[in-house]
Amino acid sequence: MTSNTRIGFIGLGNMGAPMALNLHRAGFAVTAFDLSESALAHAKAEGVPVAASGREAVDGAQIVISMLPNSRHVESLYLDDDGLLPALAQGTLIVDCSTIAPASAKKVAEAAQGRGIDMIDAPVSGGTAGAAAGTLTFIVGGKEEALARARPALEAMGKNIFHMGASGAGQVAKLCNNMALGAIMAVTGEALALGAAHGLDPATLSRMMAVSTGRSWATEVCNPWPGVLENAPASRGYSGGFGNDLMLKDLGLAVEAAMSVGATVPLGELARNLYSLNRRAGRGALDFSSVIQLYTGDRQG
Ligand code: NAD
Repeated sequence: MTSNTRIGFIGLGNMGAPMALNLHRAGFAVTAFDLSESALAHAKAEGVPVAASGREAVDGAQIVISMLPNSRHVESLYLDDDGLLPALAQGTLIVDCSTIAPASAKKVAEAAQGRGIDMIDAPVSGGTAGAAAGTLTFIVGGKEEALARARPALEAMGKNIFHMGASGAGQVAKLCNNMALGAIMAVTGEALALGAAHGLDPATLSRMMAVSTGRSWATEVCNPWPGVLENAPASRGYSGGFGNDLMLKDLGLAVEAAMSVGATVPLGELARNLYSLNRRAGRGALDFSSVIQLYTGDRQG
């Protein structure tokens, strides 16, 4: 595939808009669509060529990329009677970058295969900053040949590509990563709150942990204590970053994925409940590191 490959891009939210823009800038013939008028207008203002409907966006496309909130949206986009599958030509390649249930990814891929259309699941890691910078990690499930066809487009949006196995395997791997991340962030908040309750300075405690065995992305990059790291969401009122409710969704998917194979994920279940409590405390739209406020309330500063 060359860079003038025709790409229909569906879903221009926080992640999709910058990803579509990077493809457009790399020379791909992108036409994009979002159901939300404001998302569509925002992407258009940023320079992404847009269409008036999903079907119009994918008309004549060799690759269709979707970046939607969850399983329900992805199944509906492709499988509804007025969905995209019947409108796609045989030989089209679908690349779904949304984080969804592995079972949903497999269901849509099987339906697509029945029409002679390959689909890979390619959820991402790297957040909105990675989407804007074109440095996402793609975590892929599906056939090797399908990934090979998608690779030039993925390389325009990211810098790491991992092929995890057959259809659905990308989603399983993404959920494993985010389950570890969710539990690590929660326990890091718990540790910093414990230290602060004993009168320790959270910044010094964080600097010590960052070069000791408790180190992690949560201490070094996205520290949950305000003011410890200037660029972390905690230092700007927990705005931006990765939303509590998206982490809650991913942990729910991880627990479901565990139950489907009889695996046990006790810390994943516990973490899911903590992010659920954080949502009930009114912080669903804030960065997930705000989970620390379950321990600190307004004692931070
Ligand atoms: P978002 O809610 O900002 O954007 C999703 C967009 O999809 C919305 O604009 C919505 O209007 C649109 N949409 C829904 N159904 C549609 C349809 N049928 N046709 C056209 N548009 C439709 O979400 P986001 O933050 O961009 O995340 C997208 C996916 O990426 C999620 O699965 C999320 O878990 C995952 N993800 C997000 C991040 C992050 O930091 N935000 C990081 C990694 C992965």
